Amino acid sequence: MIPPINQNLVGPYVSFLLPCFNESEVLIEMHRRVKDVGEKLAKTYEIVFVNDGSTDDTLLKMIELSEKDPMLVVVDLSRNHGHQLALSAGLQCCAGERVLVLDADLQDPPELLPQMLELMDQGADVVFAQRRTRLGDAPLKRFACAVFYRLLQKLSDTAIPLDTGDFRLMSRRVVDQVLRMPERHRFIRGMVSWVGYRQVPFFYDREKRFAGETKYPFFRLLALALDGIASSSTKPLMLASYAGGLFAFLCLGFIGYAMYSLFFVGQTPQGWTSLMIVVTLMGSVQLFVLGIVGQYLGRIHEQVRGRPIFIIRDIVRGRSVS
Ligand code: UDP
Ligand code: MG
Repeated sequence: MIPPINQNLVGPYVSFLLPCFNESEVLIEMHRRVKDVGEKLAKTYEIVFVNDGSTDDTLLKMIELSEKDPMLVVVDLSRNHGHQLALSAGLQCCAGERVLVLDADLQDPPELLPQMLELMDQGADVVFAQRRTRLGDAPLKRFACAVFYRLLQKLSDTAIPLDTGDFRLMSRRVVDQVLRMPERHRFIRGMVSWVGYRQVPFFYDREKRFAGETKYPFFRLLALALDGIASSSTKPLMLASYAGGLFAFLCLGFIGYAMYSLFFVGQTPQGWTSLMIVVTLMGSVQLFVLGIVGQYLGRIHEQVRGRPIFIIRDIVRGRSVS
């Protein structure tokens, strides 16, 4: 369990949570736009920036901003922990009654908050932003994501909404439940779906990144997808055993054929091609099944080591200019 850091304080009405990894180019504009939304709310708010081990001057800019903005909280992680853990660290530090999670690059427009708040006023505990279009992303990425979300929906034990990232508004009780989950391979959108309560979609068009490069190159995206599947479902293990069963059955047929050839046809030396096919096929099926088992085993190993899932180096609270 990750205990909330601010549990004894009376929190603001809403927290904006933005994980940032090398977002120096977008930081100032993003802060301006988020702050603008906060000021127009006529409610109390805080802006929580998580610096996920940036190697550029993201942290420096955050600290500079915090010297003039009392609503800002800068959470500095000890190194790059990855998006999902940066989000978890941020959730731990948010004190708001409602928490809006959004990407730092302005692909998720903060200006949509009032409409999302309205849906929450009508009784929702989670308002998740579902992408109607995502023209800001490359076509190949859009295709890969579309396939992944559909596969995940088939495999997952709880319904995970399609085409939905981490852009969502959550109530305090949902945030507290997510913080109670101790897993180290965190797929936040799956975990939030698992919590339940009333979750409603909010459709939006995903914009282009304001500046800078995506922090999710192919292999990071693949790792997130594997975490998503492994943390939401054990069906791949079932699939592995079905594959084992199917190939054992095929093997029986092949053994029968080999015996028949030996005893009744008497022509056994031939058959190099079929032998090679069987050996390579069985080899690859075994490795495939072993790979699936390995994915789960590695995660169990990391979980039982019981290390802290992230380390916060420092928390800097904003000050007002005097
Ligand atoms: N991010 C992070 N740590 C990482 C990678 C990404 O905190 O190791 C943040 C990043 O700064 C951004 C969000 O996660 O605010 C989403 O990343 P990005 O926009 O690059 O992903 P994309 O929208 O391209 O999928
Ligand atoms: Mg982005």
